[in-house]
Amino acid sequence: MPLDTMICLGIESTAHTFGVGIMDGEEVLSNVTDMYIPSKGGIHPREAAEHHSKVCDKVLDRALEEAGIGKEEIDLVAFSRGPGMPPCLRTGAVFARSLALSLDVPIVGVNHCIAHIEIGKLKTGAEDPVTLYVSGGNTQVIALSKGKYRVFGEVLDTPVGNALDKFGREAGLEHPGGPKVEKLASRGSKYIELPYSVKGMDMSFSGLMTEAVRKLDSEKKEDVCYSLQETMFAMLTEAVERAMAHAGKNEVLLTGGVAANRRLQEMLETMCRERNAEFYTVPHELAGDNGTMMAWLGILKYRSTGADDLEETGFIQNWRTDEVDVTWTE
Ligand code: AMP
Ligand code: MG
Repeated sequence: MPLDTMICLGIESTAHTFGVGIMDGEEVLSNVTDMYIPSKGGIHPREAAEHHSKVCDKVLDRALEEAGIGKEEIDLVAFSRGPGMPPCLRTGAVFARSLALSLDVPIVGVNHCIAHIEIGKLKTGAEDPVTLYVSGGNTQVIALSKGKYRVFGEVLDTPVGNALDKFGREAGLEHPGGPKVEKLASRGSKYIELPYSVKGMDMSFSGLMTEAVRKLDSEKKEDVCYSLQETMFAMLTEAVERAMAHAGKNEVLLTGGVAANRRLQEMLETMCRERNAEFYTVPHELAGDNGTMMAWLGILKYRSTGADDLEETGFIQNWRTDEVDVTWTE
C-alpha cells in the first residue's frame, strides 16, 4: 500500500479534550472533539478521564461518519502517549490499543507537543519555525535543532491559558476565561503597570496574575484585562524573538488554544515583520487539542520508523519534547 494514501485514525486524551481525527495522507478527513468542562475550579484528572471513557465510542463513530469511511478502511492507529495527566493518558492508550487490536492494524504512540507543531507546519506551510505553543497546560518556545525539537523557553509556573482562566474566575468571568479576557481587553485603553518577568527565554506568569487580580479592586475590569494581555503577550513575544535569534530561524508558528487571541497574533506578526520573518497561525480547529494532529504525526512516524510494539505503548506522563528523535524531516 502506498504510504501517501494511508488512512490513520488519531486519538487525543492528554487533558480536557477527547478527540478522534482521521487523515488520509496529507488530507484531513475528520476532526471530532469533546471537551470536559470542570464544574468548578481547574481540571480534575480523574473526572476528565471518566468523561473521556464516557464519550470515546460516540466521538469515534462521529469521526468515522464525518470522514465517510468504515472502520475497516483504517490502516493505522495513532494516539497521544504523553505528556499529560495519567488517568486521561491511560484511558486514551487503552482505547487506542483495543481499537488497533480489534482492527488488526499497527499502532504508534506520539508526543502531544510535537503533534501540535507538525500539524501546524502541514497546514500553514511553515518549514522550520520557532513554535510558540500556548494552551491551558503548556507554554513553550520550541525549535528544531540537531534532530530534536528543543525547548528554548518555557513557563516556570502557571501556563498562559491557565493563568488567563484563573484570572477570569477571580474576575467573575465564565470558563474558559481567555476569550472573555480578550473581549474585555479590546474595550480597555489604560495601561496599568504589572510585573514583567522574562528570564532568558523562560517566563513566569504567577506574580503577574496575582497582581492583576489585586488591581480589580481599584481599576476598571477592561483596563486590567487590557494590561494583563499587553504584559503577558509582550513577554511571550520577547521570548520568541530571542529564540529566533538564538536558533537562527526566520519563521514563527503560533499554536495551542491561546493562538486564537488576535492581540497575541498581532504582536507576534509585528515583531516578525520587523525582523523580515514569516508569521503563521495554526487554524483554530487544529490549534487546540485534537486527534487529527495525532493521526498526522502517526503517519510521519510510521513512514520513517514503522509501528510500535504493542507492549511499548504505555503512556509517558512527562514525555519531554526533546526526548524524541525527529526522524521524519530531512
Ligand atoms: P487548549 O488547552 O489548547 O485546548 O486551549 C485552551 C485554552 O485556550 C484555555 O485556557 C482558554 O482560555 C484559552 N483561549 C481560548 N481562546 C482564547 C483567546 N481568544 N484568547 C486567550 N486565550 C484563549
Ligand atoms: Mg495541547
